[in-house]
Amino acid sequence: ACEKGSANFTIAEQTNPSIKLHNIASVEKKIKIGFSMDTLEEERWLKDRDLFRVSVEALDAEVEIMAANGDDALQISQSETLISQGIDVLVIVPHNAEATAAIVHKAHKAGIKVIAYDRLVKNADIDLYVSFDNEEVGKLQAEAITKRVPRGNYVYIGGAITDNNAILLKKGVFSVLQPLIDSGDIKIVYDQWTKDWTPANALLNMETALKVNGTQIDAVIAANDATAGGVIQALAVKELSGKVPVAGQDAELAAAQHIVEGTQTMTVYKPIRALTEKVAELAVKLAKGEKVETNQKVNNGKVEVPSVLLSPIAVDQTNIDQTIIADGFHSREDVYRNM
Ligand code: BGC
Repeated sequence: ACEKGSANFTIAEQTNPSIKLHNIASVEKKIKIGFSMDTLEEERWLKDRDLFRVSVEALDAEVEIMAANGDDALQISQSETLISQGIDVLVIVPHNAEATAAIVHKAHKAGIKVIAYDRLVKNADIDLYVSFDNEEVGKLQAEAITKRVPRGNYVYIGGAITDNNAILLKKGVFSVLQPLIDSGDIKIVYDQWTKDWTPANALLNMETALKVNGTQIDAVIAANDATAGGVIQALAVKELSGKVPVAGQDAELAAAQHIVEGTQTMTVYKPIRALTEKVAELAVKLAKGEKVETNQKVNNGKVEVPSVLLSPIAVDQTNIDQTIIADGFHSREDVYRNM
């Protein structure tokens, strides 16, 4: 027995099965991935957390997960803890695109490769970036809304300026809007970032937009469903909810319900499982020192980061059944609960 491996074992190990078992176990030590998350605030991040664990474990690796409640210092110290626990790869969802560069340096010093998950880390030598195409998300939003409202006054409620995705989304939105702004068909009457993406801050922003413009608002593009929720609340107070088209992203349950009720026009669905499976696969490959396949490069201010960008899907009343419900992202019963 054990011819192939026996050369590596001493006589004692070959004759004492308990030592041999121990030896084999240590040779096949599971790959351990650290997952440092910014927040679990939005519904999607709970899916990210749970599905990432499933995806990693399906590859016979293990994962240690920490979430930092939107606190940069805490995210750095949690990542240090993960690094000191002997992880093989660090996967990070940065709260602050710039501040997390410090973590990348620390991980690299310890010989640990780093993957930016969903959000890019700026100005650091990260090894991989895996996300959805965020510019495309913005384009899908603006295309859907301009189809309904080809002329009029537009409000843009952005995401958190500390998150590179918020910048990319806005770029995508305005790539579609700009020609219509130039032709005079569309006017931007309010445009503001939303601190930490919170519905409460989006509500305040939308209240200001309404104060400044009265009821002269024809469409709102919000950076995600959480901020769209704040927008819809502010519109409701003025009895405008359901009358002014609103776009979001994430396909949160509340947004899906708003879509079937008609108070939100569209969302952008990003199948989270596709992201967790891709990141898990690449993380394990990196840990084994294998070559990884990526389809593009994204400049993060310091390096051209090998990247994988998955495709987002526009969802409105016409295709909600065939997309998020058919996928089991939400159940039909939950989506139509208030109908
Ligand atoms: C993500 C969105 C999310 C937002 C707020 C962005 O970076 O791409 O899906 O809604 O952060 O957490």
